[in-house]
Amino acid sequence: MDRTRSAPTPAGAELRVDPVTGTPVIVAPGRAARPHTTGHPADATPPGACPFCPGNEHETPPEVLRTGAGAPGGPGWRVRVVPNLYPVVGGADARPGATGAHEVVVLSPEHDAPFGSLPDALAVEVITVLRDRVRVHLAAGRAHVQALINHGRAAGASIAHPHAQVIAVDVVPPLVLARGERTAALGADPIDLDLGAARTADCLVDAEGGAVAWCPPASGWPWGVRIAHRAAGPGFETATDPEVAEVAAVLRRTLARLANTLGPFAHNVIIHTDLPDVPSGSGRWFVEVVPRLGVHAGFELGTGILVNPVPPETAASTLRASEPTCESTSAP
Ligand SMILES: [Zn+2]
Repeated sequence: MDRTRSAPTPAGAELRVDPVTGTPVIVAPGRAARPHTTGHPADATPPGACPFCPGNEHETPPEVLRTGAGAPGGPGWRVRVVPNLYPVVGGADARPGATGAHEVVVLSPEHDAPFGSLPDALAVEVITVLRDRVRVHLAAGRAHVQALINHGRAAGASIAHPHAQVIAVDVVPPLVLARGERTAALGADPIDLDLGAARTADCLVDAEGGAVAWCPPASGWPWGVRIAHRAAGPGFETATDPEVAEVAAVLRRTLARLANTLGPFAHNVIIHTDLPDVPSGSGRWFVEVVPRLGVHAGFELGTGILVNPVPPETAASTLRASEPTCESTSAP
């Protein structure tokens, strides 16, 4: 990829449509200049009070899985999986529709090391653990398994120590169903369409092997990035080890580039995956990074039209020029 070209920046507001979601987006560069007088309060959880720090293992439910060394319930681990103490689904006496399983995957023993600052080998290990837990829950008969990272209070995290979550549900989520229907109606993988548009608009950010990161030209979120692998199948559970390794490396570097550009930032990492019974070749799993720099406000909620003040062309060229390394930082 040519990293020396600078992308053209759209001058005025423009309506675009995200081929993956069908959502209309107004890219409105002028909105970025408006003054902000609001902010997000810092999360000041001291490491000693953190249930995810080594030495505090007794504060979580008994662990499901660990990588690394040590005995269950004690330190020595690198990645640790435990049931969520406050589950969305699968809690005691859950009614039909709210049954399932909800797990926390602690990314590392470090209290202030977000995914973008992990060593590459550990980043790969984390995504491998997520894939393996998805496999376990699908094998148990769950309808859908959502793997994600919420980082920072503005992204919905209640505990600062970087962690992922795996939420296995017994209902088919509407967005997953809609994406499958959209793929069938298009007769093409919408990720291919989005990636093609990104190449044309010079919105690629990074690549390794078959994995590529790009800023979707119709991103509804400022600084939003998608990552996919050209060999990926419809379901995340089908990901091979090489696919996981290349996507994890590109995701790690993408989050580091974003942190270097934005400073410590709240974000969601969402692993989108199709339903287990989708025919191979119709779509593919992919990763979405959503920086939570603002909120969808009244216009978005009232119209379903999103507003993005940062042209994805500008975001992509800035991220390409950013160093893909970052220091450990506290969650914002
Ligand atoms: Zn901690």
